[in-house]
Amino acid sequence: MAISFDLTGKNALVTGANTGIGQAIALALAQAGADVAVAGRSDPTETLDQISETGRRAVSIKADLSSVEPIDHIIEEAVSRLGQVDILVNNAGIIRRSDILEFSEEDWDAVLDTNLKTLFFLSQATAKGMVERGSGKIVNIASLLTFQGGIRVPSYAAAKSGVSGVTKAMANELAPSGVQVNAIAPGYITTNNTAALQSDDIRNRQILERIPTGRWGKPEDIAGAAVFLASSAADYVTGHVLAVDGGWLAR
Ligand code: NDP
Repeated sequence: MAISFDLTGKNALVTGANTGIGQAIALALAQAGADVAVAGRSDPTETLDQISETGRRAVSIKADLSSVEPIDHIIEEAVSRLGQVDILVNNAGIIRRSDILEFSEEDWDAVLDTNLKTLFFLSQATAKGMVERGSGKIVNIASLLTFQGGIRVPSYAAAKSGVSGVTKAMANELAPSGVQVNAIAPGYITTNNTAALQSDDIRNRQILERIPTGRWGKPEDIAGAAVFLASSAADYVTGHVLAVDGGWLAR
């Protein structure tokens, strides 16, 4: 059997794809042949234009993923405008920073709700169709803080560790139905999320010294891993958290 990364004939749903890693993933999935729906709260015009330039279909679904409330709407829209969802990429995420002793309940809930609760229930809703059809791929965007505690980001570390747990739990239960569930743990990637770190000369130098590859990751580095995990080349990969970190965790 030929190994294939081709996604022709597949439909993908990517959350938080108006910018950064999500945008690069949506474009890469389209370049690999998939039609793509993007779900998020901000204007995704740039992403939709990029997808359209590949000749694939691009669909925008307006949704605030800070709660589970829009999930039924997202699935209904994706199915009615695109068809079945074969690939789900849970990328939308936020981070809140504060000292442990000052950390607020609001910052705890906001990060857990967006990064973990919505991820699980959107996956659950999408997986129902996948299980019926006997195939599907779910790719969750985790973090190095899936494995490490970080500093001043307890809710983010908890949520991203939780992404690993949910990935493995879903992978176990859905494997017999032909659905693979994996996660990607990005290292330091140049997006809006990390703009402050990139422009802080001292922190930037400390980060670069710690990365064996000697450079920040690009959103495209994560997109390549997402295409692999979404493709039939990864049919025997499930329940895995793939670090794409320039060797950070190897050090
Ligand atoms: P961005 O801030 O560029 O992207 C985050 C995306 O999530 C945006 O599209 C944002 O939309 C969306 N989002 C956040 N909250 C909501 C919400 N309530 N409803 C809908 N969409 C929402 O950052 P990145 O591209 O860096 O982050 C993407 C993912 O990668 C996140 O899960 C992040 O935790 C993870 N990650 C990033 C790393 C990095 O170094 N950059 C490292 C490790 C993990 P909006 O524009 O509307 O806010």
